[in-house]
Amino acid sequence: MKDRSGNRKKVGLFGGTLDPIHLGHLRAGEEAHEYLGLDELWFMPAHIPPHKLSRPLAPFHHRFRMVELAIEGVEHFQASDFEAHRPGPSYSVDTLEELHRIHGPDIAFSFIVGSDAFLEIESWKEYYRLPYLSELVVISRWPAKTDELVRHLQEVFPDFSQSGKGFFTSDTGGKIRLLKTARLEISSTDIRQRVRTGLSVRYLLPEKVRRYMIHNNLYLSVSKNTKINSANDDISIETARIIFEEIKNNKGEDICVLDMRGISPVADFFIIAQGRSTKHVQGMANKMRKELSRNKIRCRSTEGEDEGKWVLMDFDDIIVHLFYEPVRSFYDLEGLWSEAPRLSMEGDHVHLEEADG
Ligand code: ATP
Ligand code: MG
Repeated sequence: MKDRSGNRKKVGLFGGTLDPIHLGHLRAGEEAHEYLGLDELWFMPAHIPPHKLSRPLAPFHHRFRMVELAIEGVEHFQASDFEAHRPGPSYSVDTLEELHRIHGPDIAFSFIVGSDAFLEIESWKEYYRLPYLSELVVISRWPAKTDELVRHLQEVFPDFSQSGKGFFTSDTGGKIRLLKTARLEISSTDIRQRVRTGLSVRYLLPEKVRRYMIHNNLYLSVSKNTKINSANDDISIETARIIFEEIKNNKGEDICVLDMRGISPVADFFIIAQGRSTKHVQGMANKMRKELSRNKIRCRSTEGEDEGKWVLMDFDDIIVHLFYEPVRSFYDLEGLWSEAPRLSMEGDHVHLEEADG
């Protein structure tokens, strides 16, 4: 396991849900490999991510296969299914400890996390042990700023002090490093939402991964009831109306209901609305989930709530898109689905809105 000069082999670990792996992960991995002088970098999808249990995940074997496809032919990258062999949630501290036990004398590990993950690292199991089990490397991810990362580091790891540009160490041997890497504004959440709404994901992830995803129907709504009959239609219109009212109660603005029956296989209705700020959007999603579940309208999954720029809520036959206003105009879903009839839900009757012009 040692390199030719007899030194310990240097391996970077790049973990995460990787649902799916994208060019943001791959470019960050490539730069980490280069700047840290690593021999290898292992992409290690979490088997059961502790932080992501609230939404359905693509099964491990698909996420792992997409990693394999993404790195095919790149010798210094490896796909690792190490976390698949342990039952229960995949806690990083357990993974590092086990790797340490197995490879300790031969491999020096660097554990790589993005700045967004680092800014909430205190919620991870035994996070304070991480910089002792391996070097903890924090890579840049939009929109984090270096000052903010340093401030967080000092708060969460008070025993560490700066020992060089981007290097922080503790007297007892802990190591943390802040590493500037390209900030590609790509996220798996955005990719999943795009797939769900029929938007293009080309050039956000390797072409082989894109094709695999399409071929395996990943990230489409799973539960679409394809039998359309009038009883079901009435139920879903009534549900759409209750959701519409709930958005109004939460001060959602410019609510638009699109009738997607016969147009999209993923849902009967899309409801699009906006909030004044990302906080407003997050608050709205949170309240809606609670209030609607009292009406037995269950939200199967929510995506994008962490950021609040575009929150997608899946109510089976109805998909709700809550936007922070500038993001709504950027994606222009109404323009994309311009052939879908718009329904007016104001007043007592549901009716078609008059087309403009
Ligand atoms: P999701 O939107 O589902 O959370 P994600 O794009 O954030 O997906 P993860 O699998 O959550 O991807 O992230 C795995 C690791 O990769 C984390 O440490 C995260 O900070 C980092 N990461 C994700 N996207 C990027 C990116 N565009 N640039 C740099 N690092 C990234
Ligand atoms: Mg993430």
